[in-house]
This record gives sequence, structure tokens and C-alpha cells, in this order.
Amino acid sequence: MLAAAMAENSQPALRHPCTRCGALILPITSEFNNGLCTPCFNQLKAVQNLRQGHASAIKEYYVRKQGRRRSIIELIACPEKAEGQIVRVHGFVVVRIEASAVYLSEADALNRIYENGIGLELPDEAWKDRSKYHRKYSIVEGTFVSLLEFGDSRPFSGHITNLIRLDPIDQHPEIEQSNY
Ligand SMILES: [Zn+2]
Repeated sequence: MLAAAMAENSQPALRHPCTRCGALILPITSEFNNGLCTPCFNQLKAVQNLRQGHASAIKEYYVRKQGRRRSIIELIACPEKAEGQIVRVHGFVVVRIEASAVYLSEADALNRIYENGIGLELPDEAWKDRSKYHRKYSIVEGTFVSLLEFGDSRPFSGHITNLIRLDPIDQHPEIEQSNY
């Protein structure tokens, strides 16, 4: 049986089953359509186009809605998309000599997970008011750059320079007072 199948396989005109619906198709069709019959290939392509269309539409919507606001996760994952842009992030701020940063969370700062932090180039005024921001969740706004010429002493996932905003966040009163 196997030998017969193998013998058949050696014949050039043998049809292969479509990997999706099982319809028998010519080897050349299979090769062109990645193992699929033409109707299956066209259908999957249409679904992919639709999904890609949706994804870009959703992305566009959020980009418009969020303005400068970015998740630190976005900056970590796709630094090239924010390079040189003014961004606003919300995160846990630590003010230390040559190691100031805004982290995704307090736990990241405490456990030295520098990759989950964006280094901060702080102006002198920020140092005077250190107690206002140090170890506080804050809003940070400034220019995002992947690499600095100087002061790259920690392996942060990029830096925020030319700071224009640094404000501690008011905690959500309803969530703060409730049990969840
Ligand atoms: Zn098919």
C-alpha cells in the first residue's frame, strides 16, 4: 500500500490534498498557495487583509486618542516608534544620581529590573523637589531617545530628556478606599 502510494507520488501529475479543506489540487497550485487550494488561499488572504485593516484602524484610533501618552511597555517594545518624540508616561519614579528613572512598577524599581525602566535626565529643579517625586507614581513628559551620548550607566530601555512635566499622580480615591 505504502509502496504503491510512493510509486504514485513519483508521478508528476498527482494531485495533493489542500491542507485546509482536503480538495485535490495540482502540485504547482499547492506550491504557489502554500499547500492550499485556490478558494482556501483567497479566503485566508481576505481574512488576513481584514485583520490587518482592523489592526491598523484600531492603532490609529488609539494614537489619536492618547496623544503624547504612551505606556512604558510601548517604549520598551518599540523604541523606534517613539524615537525623538515628546511622550507622556505614567510610572514609578526613582530619583538617584545617574540612575533616575521611571519604572513600569514599584516592584521593577525595587528589584533592579532596569529593562522595565526609562532613564530620566532631570533638571536641577527636580533635584530640589526630590521628595515630591522620589518613589512616587508620577506623570513624566519629555523627549524620548533610545540612546544617550553620556550617562548611560544603567541598562534602561531608553531615556526621557528635556523634561517638560513631572507631577506625582493623585491616587484614584474610589479605588484607594475600596477593597478592590
Ligand atoms: Zn482548500
